[in-house]
Amino acid sequence: MLIAALLALQLFEAVEPHMGTLFRIQLYVADQAQAQQAFQAAFARIAQLDGILSDYTPTSELNQLSTRAVHHPVRVSEDLFKVLSASEQLSAESDGAFDVTIGPLTHLWRAARKTAHPPAKAAVEEALHRSGYHHLHLDAARQTVELDRPGMQLDVGGIAKGYAADEALALLDKRGIHSALVAASGDLVFSNPPPGEPGWKIGIGSFDQVLLLANAAVSTSGPAEQHLDSGGVRYSHIIDPKTGMGLTRDITASVIAPHGIQADGMATAVSVLGPERGLSFVEKHPGASVFIVTSENGRHRIWKSPR
Ligand code: ADP
Ligand code: MG
Repeated sequence: MLIAALLALQLFEAVEPHMGTLFRIQLYVADQAQAQQAFQAAFARIAQLDGILSDYTPTSELNQLSTRAVHHPVRVSEDLFKVLSASEQLSAESDGAFDVTIGPLTHLWRAARKTAHPPAKAAVEEALHRSGYHHLHLDAARQTVELDRPGMQLDVGGIAKGYAADEALALLDKRGIHSALVAASGDLVFSNPPPGEPGWKIGIGSFDQVLLLANAAVSTSGPAEQHLDSGGVRYSHIIDPKTGMGLTRDITASVIAPHGIQADGMATAVSVLGPERGLSFVEKHPGASVFIVTSENGRHRIWKSPR
């Protein structure tokens, strides 16, 4: 009986633009009507999170917070608090390689990408002065956030897609859909395998690595999509919080972790930390592993955590 019910499940897929990228959902349900309802609810949840976490929309809760919370604790939504708490923990664990107070620098580099020239040194210094995770203060009991420097700007672009994918998957699970995949470009999360299969087949990056995974998340970070080329140097959209500069080392990191919020944040952190420190950072997290490819003068090197 159960087997018959499982075999009756069909695969449905839908794609929608959210958070500056395309979100793709695959799920196994009995019929089209159930699939449509599930897609609608899941995409609505993602859109809601975009409204909270976007650093492009001035009215997002995140952007409102950046202006209102200077020297003043502001109570925030549970979603925003969760994302900022996870970010703060990642900052501490990565010695500041992951840092959501990087906003002044990401804005500076975003503007620079339009001119095709890296920002002036003085502008980088000035933006660095308005960032640093030590200037972000969270109070879990009150669910408040306070910033201790004027001009600070939060940017959760390195972790928000992973969280949104987690939340969409959790919503599907609550609706009784237990075999599903949610992908936001390089950030993927999935629940139980497709019926009758051992796992979801996940190809990572442009490499010939195919993984068979279930109830896990994979995120890939690298300079492939967004970067600035100037004077023979490629600057990544990922910024080293210590220098304020876009990364110039060619590194692509894929992190596997139990949840998307972890995989997404850790992949960004590993890019900043580099292969050696990145590997040992991931090794400290139970249930996480990493696959790193660096490229120097056209030569690729591969780094894998033992797990
Ligand atoms: P992608 O957005 O390409 O999936 P990431 O998950 O690595 O890649 O996120 C990159 C984004 O994270 C940047 O566009 C920026 O918004 C933000 N960011 C850049 N540098 C850092 C950093 N050191 N720590 C945290 N977030 C960062
Ligand atoms: Mg990330």
